[in-house]
Amino acid sequence: MTGLEALLRSVYSALDSDEFQEAVWRSSLHAEERVPQILEKYSYIRRLAEEVLEARRRAISNIEEVLERLRESARRVKLNLYFAETAEDARRIVGRIIGSGKTVVFSKSMVAEEIRLREYLEENGNEVWETDLGQLLIQLENGKPMHTTAPAIHLTVEKAARLVIEKLGLELPSDPRPEDIVLAVRGFLREKFTKADYGVSGANAIAADTASIVLVENEGNIRLVTGFPERHIVVAGVEKVVETLDLALKQALVQAAYAGLFPPTYMNIISGPSSTADIEHRRVYGAHGPREVHLVLIDNGRMKARGTPLEEQLRCIRCGRCQWECPVWRHTANIWGGEVYGGPMGINWTAITEGLEKGGELSMLCLQCMRCDEVCPVEIPLSSIIHWLRKNYVASLLS
Ligand code: SF4
Repeated sequence: MTGLEALLRSVYSALDSDEFQEAVWRSSLHAEERVPQILEKYSYIRRLAEEVLEARRRAISNIEEVLERLRESARRVKLNLYFAETAEDARRIVGRIIGSGKTVVFSKSMVAEEIRLREYLEENGNEVWETDLGQLLIQLENGKPMHTTAPAIHLTVEKAARLVIEKLGLELPSDPRPEDIVLAVRGFLREKFTKADYGVSGANAIAADTASIVLVENEGNIRLVTGFPERHIVVAGVEKVVETLDLALKQALVQAAYAGLFPPTYMNIISGPSSTADIEHRRVYGAHGPREVHLVLIDNGRMKARGTPLEEQLRCIRCGRCQWECPVWRHTANIWGGEVYGGPMGINWTAITEGLEKGGELSMLCLQCMRCDEVCPVEIPLSSIIHWLRKNYVASLLS
């Protein structure tokens, strides 16, 4: 079976499932209303988005300089910095830090998904738990995230309840509401947070001038993942680095707004391990938060994308706004995607991380309606990039 045939079969199974269609449709309607309301109420978001667009263009075209600046800052704040060319390199680096027999808590990270980090650590004999509720549900159903910021949108409340009852043995009322699931999972994960040896997170943005990791969230799990265990590991794509901390904060705010959750409940800034200077004003590292922080920056096809139409995709802030807007994605979610990424942004990210052929297969289902282009906060010409992938893919089939 060709890759395209396999894709069509998966898409058909999504179209054929009433439960899947109902769940994705409900979520899309909620998200669709929310973002325009946020943009109207907080008019400065559009201005911030323009600044972020310019900052991301500059950072990507000067990436070597920006990374060099990050290297110097990382030394200053005692952040351990690594560069991984491939997904395998990244897994190996994290695997060496963690070893085996440990308890590891994850906050949601698409890059961790991209490199199959959770599975790798489990194979190495570690107990690993996702702590974002949606991502935990994905772990329990052994599936893949169906949206960039809302991974479990394909699950109805009934299906989510079945998963936590069957896979975690939790008790829920006979007609469970989302609140009941949240409460039960909260109790279950408390114990995992307190016994975790390592916390693994992604990054919404990274500031080169201060080596700060910026993370935005609503659940509060990122605070616990990055603050409670003795050691914190960050995995992020190289494209996440911008020049300064103020730009990194703006990027995270714009991401939260276009993801439809604004104001975000929490913003986290992490610049190296925890420390105190409370005795004789001498700085001592390893206070209440982690004693070590490691940042693994991952290339995995990103640097090679520069100089091609895919370069524009590198400024994506992963808000997922284009996915909600896409008429095809609203029936397929990330089933129309590669291993991890799906929909408009996901076709292009799949081409970057899994190769042009795979991206080309996915491009064949695009309607070229350009709705995704119109809503992207950083003006990525998504449909033009998809068109370029399709043209090359068709040419390769005909040659
Ligand atoms: S151009 Fe293609 S990817 Fe973009 S919204 Fe339309 S169908 Fe979706």
